[in-house]
Amino acid sequence: MVTILGRAKINLTLDILGLREDGYHEIATVMQSLALADTLTFSRQEEGITLTVDLPWLEADERNLAHRAAALIMKECGLRGGVHIAIAKRIPVAAGLAGGSADAAATLRGMNELYGIGLSDKELCALGAQLGSDIPFSLVGGTVLATGRGEIMQRLADFPVTSVVLAKPPVSVSTPWAYRSYDAHPPEYHPDNAAFMEALTRGDRAACAHLIGNVLEPVTEAEHPVIGDYRARMRAHGALCAMMSGSGPTVFGLFAQEQTAAAAAEVFGRETDAAVHLTSTVGRYGQE
Ligand code: ATP
Repeated sequence: MVTILGRAKINLTLDILGLREDGYHEIATVMQSLALADTLTFSRQEEGITLTVDLPWLEADERNLAHRAAALIMKECGLRGGVHIAIAKRIPVAAGLAGGSADAAATLRGMNELYGIGLSDKELCALGAQLGSDIPFSLVGGTVLATGRGEIMQRLADFPVTSVVLAKPPVSVSTPWAYRSYDAHPPEYHPDNAAFMEALTRGDRAACAHLIGNVLEPVTEAEHPVIGDYRARMRAHGALCAMMSGSGPTVFGLFAQEQTAAAAAEVFGRETDAAVHLTSTVGRYGQE
């Protein structure tokens, strides 16, 4: 039996550079892994892929990204045998935290270990990119500048370990919808990735906090004003900065002190309808 964590991510910056010929958007985003994680347990079985998820309403069949990742690696590596995957789901679903990608990445690692396949990180990332643009990042984790569709990665200095409060309002956002809305009304604002990375190299968390930015935030916020409300609340409760992650709707706050973050999480839970998580940033896979 093998157990692997699939970690959530936030986008510290997210810029869209243009539309590609293949229909995808060219993006440039600084991604950061979090301690918040799903736990996936893999056990061998004679044949087939079976899946259990401790959220009864989440698909536990071939549509699940963990199932698809297991099928892909088995086919590509000509594996005989099967696997049972048990997912303890802790990352909020459809929240902008890449929970599905985290589970797919954990499955590629889990199968690699369970069957002693011996694929390198590079080979696992190439497989992952076939399934989803965020999966290569979920495989390596830490702090990364992701470009292209999000699958080309440049490792950055680790973001200083920081407490994070996540607040997901009770609304759903579809990622394709957010990108389509962006195309219809692209906002003028763009985050300054170069300045962010320069501040990161200096280990200057306060400067980084000023330079976070997400071009999809105004798009999703126009439809869901609660995002602006949560951002203001995060700041009022002592966050260094607050922003929406990915295409949303989750808002994260970064806090200098764990105590302040814990207090903010508690107030959020009491005063809003948000699903709230208190977590922290972590380093890359194997060096968390
Ligand atoms: P991203 O930011 O990568 O677009 P997200 O964090 O907004 O993704 P996910 O939690 O990955 O969203 O879920 C998106 C959809 O993927 C869900 O609505 C769900 O139907 C489907 N899905 C398939 N497998 C999984 C999984 N293992 N965990 C969560 N969702 C999954």
